[in-house]
Amino acid sequence: MKQLKNMYTQHYDLIVVGLGIMGIMAALQAYQRKEELAVLLLDRSTPMDGATRYCLGLDLPFGRTLEKKTQTRASYARWKFLRATSSILSPFLISDHPLITLGSDTNAIEAAATIELERIKLIATDIQQLKGQVVYGCNTSVYDVPRLTDHLLTHVQKYFFPDILFGNTIERITPIQDGWQLDSSWGLSFRGKYVVAALGPWLNSSCFIHYLEQKPLVKKIVCFELHGGISENTPVYYFFDEDAFIAPVHNKLFLSITSNDWKASVEKLPLNATRQEYQDGLKILKRYAVAKKIAGAHVFCDSYYPDFTPRVTYHGAQNSLAIISGASGSGFRLAPALADAALRFI
Ligand SMILES: Cc1cc2nc3c(=O)[nH]c(=O)nc-3n(C[C@H](O)[C@H](O)[C@H](O)COP(=O)(O)OP(=O)(O)OC[C@H]3O[C@@H](n4cnc5c(N)ncnc54)[C@H](O)[C@@H]3O)c2cc1C
Repeated sequence: MKQLKNMYTQHYDLIVVGLGIMGIMAALQAYQRKEELAVLLLDRSTPMDGATRYCLGLDLPFGRTLEKKTQTRASYARWKFLRATSSILSPFLISDHPLITLGSDTNAIEAAATIELERIKLIATDIQQLKGQVVYGCNTSVYDVPRLTDHLLTHVQKYFFPDILFGNTIERITPIQDGWQLDSSWGLSFRGKYVVAALGPWLNSSCFIHYLEQKPLVKKIVCFELHGGISENTPVYYFFDEDAFIAPVHNKLFLSITSNDWKASVEKLPLNATRQEYQDGLKILKRYAVAKKIAGAHVFCDSYYPDFTPRVTYHGAQNSLAIISGASGSGFRLAPALADAALRFI
């Protein structure tokens, strides 16, 4: 134990707690600003063993609040830049697809769009009876987020040599003279000038929650796998009114919905769908006349605010503690903008 303790006695420039897409993106972007930083990466479990592991990897160009529109635009540009300029992203791009957005309120769709949408004629064969729906088209991409996140972490380790320790929960955070002290479930203490905390749905039961005035909630996300094959041209459908989508991922078709349960708990989450969620899924398929059967459900959760807009909050001298909260089912696509905001002190 003494030997282990000695390994972590330095005062780090930056400690990142939580190694999902958000924390790993924050580490990468911190090094891109200042290569020589002394960084410690911590996770309670193995890296990306949270919401990131379940992510379908869709980058939808919408934001229903001004704040989310700004986050969407910034992240969209950043993912596009990474895709064009480096080999980091391209191996994890699964496919590009036409994105067909359906909804009843034209003004709302246009107001929420962050890139130009084109009103289109219906070209899909699956959706036949739209009953007054307006249809928009543009393009979108689907990424393999768990593998991409793993690759980003490997990249950070290979080129920048942070210290990393996982399987070890942070149980207490205390302000100290020049930053913060974090105490862990192994009885270890870590000191850092700056801390970024990105705990996903575990934030609510963590010591960091006491710093948040507005606490996020936890919502279940249910991804129904649908029977039936897909072809290269299978589009992504975004159902604007329900904030649900059908997306082809890895040669399978998924219908993703969020449950109506705003008070889920990641510790007690049943990893199956309820009868109500099954019926909600069927209702969407029926409403849009999608002739597909449900083959099963992949279930996890995410941290949400009621306006579906993530937040970064700052605490301590020089805003030295940044907490990213409420990824609201869009943590992958908004990770660059949120990581960037969390690092405003560097
Ligand atoms: C089924 C599903 C489908 C989704 N599809 C999409 C999609 O298509 N597009 C999109 O943009 N988003 C999607 N999302 C949302 C996206 O996956 C999440 O918003 C994102 O992964 C959140 O990342 P994160 O890093 O904030 O949290 P997480 O990935 O949950 O990571 C948090 C990390 O913090 C660690 N941790 C927690 N507490 C502590 C502690 N006290 N001490 C140390 N470590 C701790 C955890 O072990 C975990 O590794 C989907 C989510 C789900 C569940």
